[in-house]
Amino acid sequence: MNLILLGPPGAGKGTQATRLEHAYEIAQLSTGEMLRAEVSAGSEIGKKADGLMKAGQLVPDEMIIGIIGGRLDRDDCRNGFILDGFPRTVPQAAALDVMLDEKHLRMDHVMSIEVDDEAMVKRITGRFSCAKCGAGYHEEFQKPKVDGVCDACGSTEFSRRADDNAETVRERLKAYHAQTAPIIDYYDSRGLLRRVDGMEPIDNVTSQLKAAID
Ligand code: ADP
Ligand code: AMP
Repeated sequence: MNLILLGPPGAGKGTQATRLEHAYEIAQLSTGEMLRAEVSAGSEIGKKADGLMKAGQLVPDEMIIGIIGGRLDRDDCRNGFILDGFPRTVPQAAALDVMLDEKHLRMDHVMSIEVDDEAMVKRITGRFSCAKCGAGYHEEFQKPKVDGVCDACGSTEFSRRADDNAETVRERLKAYHAQTAPIIDYYDSRGLLRRVDGMEPIDNVTSQLKAAID
């Protein structure tokens, strides 16, 4: 089964993709994570992406299409995959259609997680993750069970993303509305789109997604 999770930054795509990855044994493919790995590695792609990401702008379509194309062929995608953060523009959605055709694959569901802009700012500015295993948390909505200790691996070190600050969030929301929101219609007109209420608590959003998938 192949899925796309759509939604503005902070909607809960990564949180939900991790849960669906385990529930359906399919691979979570986050283009934001892939780019952050390139930045950490200091690669040519990372050097080009870093400034754009810090400014809250999208990286060029060709760059991201190149990265995702090869990733779909990896072994962990044989049961399917969840795209988290891709596609983010209409040309990326069109390129994905071509890629899927060439690989004789199809998209089963496109889930749009709907939230309002003010909730997103709060979610993004309160987001942090375990520096060791990457498990995601929120200062208010998803605290570790024991303060300062990762539920998943017991580490006591946490980190925040360089682009998760109030100023960059505004730019990311602008980019979302101008460049990404139009792909909702792209998939709706193809009959693939399912909408879920992302303002609900995390568990309820998972239930809505599973109900739509099943
Ligand atoms: P995205 O991948 O769409 O950018 P995340 O999954 O990283 O978003 O979620 C952003 C932040 O909001 C995280 O800190 C997460 O713990 C929190 N969060 C996710 N879903 C919800 C929800 N339904 N209600 C409240 N907080 C949420
Ligand atoms: P995310 O982790 O999904 O919030 O993405 C973080 C940043 O990576 C975005 O603000 C963009 O700069 C960049 N990025 C991630 N995915 C894409 C994409 N599909 N197209 C363009 N830029 C992307």
